[in-house]
Amino acid sequence: MRLLECGHAAVTGPLRVCEHMLVEKSPDYYRVLTGSGVRYDVACRECAGKPLTTVCEGCAERAEDWGESLGWKGTPEIRHEDRPVPGTVRSQPWDVQPLNDRCLAPLPDGWLALTESGLVDQNGFTCAVALPVTHGKKALLALHTSADGRYAAVCVDYGSQAVVIDLSAKTVVLELDRGAYHVDWTPYPIVFVPGDRVLAATEWNRLDLFALPSGELLTEREPEGPFFHGRLTPSPGGRWALDDRWVWGPAGLPHVVDLEAGLRDGGVQLAQRWYAWDQPVAWVTQDVVAVQRIGEDDELMLDGVELYELPAGRRVGAFAGPSGPMWGHEGLLYVVGADGLEIWEPERGVRIGLVKGFRPTAHRDGTFVALNDGVLNSFSVD
Ligand SMILES: [Zn+2]
Ligand SMILES: [Zn+2]
Repeated sequence: MRLLECGHAAVTGPLRVCEHMLVEKSPDYYRVLTGSGVRYDVACRECAGKPLTTVCEGCAERAEDWGESLGWKGTPEIRHEDRPVPGTVRSQPWDVQPLNDRCLAPLPDGWLALTESGLVDQNGFTCAVALPVTHGKKALLALHTSADGRYAAVCVDYGSQAVVIDLSAKTVVLELDRGAYHVDWTPYPIVFVPGDRVLAATEWNRLDLFALPSGELLTEREPEGPFFHGRLTPSPGGRWALDDRWVWGPAGLPHVVDLEAGLRDGGVQLAQRWYAWDQPVAWVTQDVVAVQRIGEDDELMLDGVELYELPAGRRVGAFAGPSGPMWGHEGLLYVVGADGLEIWEPERGVRIGLVKGFRPTAHRDGTFVALNDGVLNSFSVD
């Protein structure tokens, strides 16, 4: 083992630093992107752009301990290896108008839309809904469905209320209200859980689990935490849900709850991101979740995703590029980007395809759909 420039005979670290980073109380620093993926070196204000020193693992690890990040220098490598996308494109007439992009949701054999005349599917099913109250500049109605298609939830994202509807009986089985405290910072936290249950916010800082269709409360009342719950994104199979929550600072604290353990288990916090939450999130596999944007501060972030693996919640990767609404399907990420539906392979951090001009708003099991001007356009992965 050779002696490194930091003076230690040890394994070479994953990043280079300027010499000023090698002291105990090291200064604030830039992350200088090397041009290989999102790899970076660390340099103080004066040394950004100058030659840097190869150091050991320990010195590399300590470089960011004391000072604060001043942001990124340079640009990340965005890897595109687009090839033809094997899939089936279809268009079918469906003359309904969802209230907005959040008002189309999957059913086992089709799609459900929330329209001015209530809930409508493609087979002529209709169900009138007394819409929850929307007020506030950001408030938006949103539609969710259970995997088996029996239940729908109509909620107010960035608002206070939600209702759960039993579609088989066309009746409201649960009415929810999370109060008004800073609700304009998060979509309504609600997710259907396998076994005829729904997990939803009942206060700004409380989630409760309910049995369906009875509406029976299954969780015991517990002391309330300081967290503002956010959008809940379930993992395939339904073991986990990512709670995109935040806390005063303010900071986003993406957090995973274990739905199998009920809410008794405290869950796992994935990261702390100043001023950053309510970003696109998707499950890549049953245990790996992707959270968009790379970094720890809203003003100092790169477009891309960070990958976290459960149950430990450890960050296992990051790559630049994806930016926009996204879903996961069989190990790949599907992202609505500027040019259409992008397909990314998280394992290598590479874009492998683009469905040009296609901008879906809903997904079920490898089929992506957009409903515009009375036509349902879909792309299904082969
Ligand atoms: Zn320096
Ligand atoms: Zn060293």
